[in-house]
Amino acid sequence: MSAADERREALKEVFAEVRGCVRCTELAAARKNVVFGAGNADADLMFIGEAPGASEDEQGLPFVGQAGKLLEKLLGEIGMTRAEVFIANVLKCRPPGNRDPLPVEIENCREYLYRQVELIQPKVICSLGNFSTKLLRGDPTGITRLHGQAQPLTLGSRTVRLYPIFHPAAALYTPRMLETLREDFSRLPQLLVMEELAQPEALEVPEVEMSEARPEAAEDSSAVAAQAGETAEADQLGLF
Ligand code: URA
Repeated sequence: MSAADERREALKEVFAEVRGCVRCTELAAARKNVVFGAGNADADLMFIGEAPGASEDEQGLPFVGQAGKLLEKLLGEIGMTRAEVFIANVLKCRPPGNRDPLPVEIENCREYLYRQVELIQPKVICSLGNFSTKLLRGDPTGITRLHGQAQPLTLGSRTVRLYPIFHPAAALYTPRMLETLREDFSRLPQLLVMEELAQPEALEVPEVEMSEARPEAAEDSSAVAAQAGETAEADQLGLF
């Protein structure tokens, strides 16, 4: 199996785990579907939005509404398709009534996002809008100041070029914002051909058998993996 296939298989395992996640009791009880993310598991370009909305929760896929259509259109304008990129959100579950994610929910979900980034190994991450930009940078500077400027960022064990852009939902009804978003998109191809940034040194972690470390953990994860249907995996991770 190639290294990329191994990463894809590992990503499917993370998906199986997230589908059974109940860290946020309220979100887990209210959701119809976990929205893990979708696209190319070996993408150079990853988009990170805020959290699923009603349509995403319904379908289990990110950015399926009007904002997603605009994202696809803008990708098309730079000669790319949705199938080439990976689209995810900071939160994998819909906050009821589309309220803002709570700090504890962001914290609960952070590990999943980092594991996605580590396994997909993108070169460029576009944070969509204020929320995901502030969260990923760990800094309150807003999108209006930061959009369209790439900067190095280390998430978990992966260093990428972070490229903040306006959220497509915000650009839907504001022509000037749409123009700016389009200009920022037009610089993406240049960023994608730039040399990959140096990666942090890998930490040597001694291998511990899962069942030795926490026997119940091994049982939990196999139980969750068994629940995850192949069809949903193919839908969400498959190259559309
Ligand atoms: N907005 C987001 O931030 N994410 C989605 O998946 C849909 C809309």
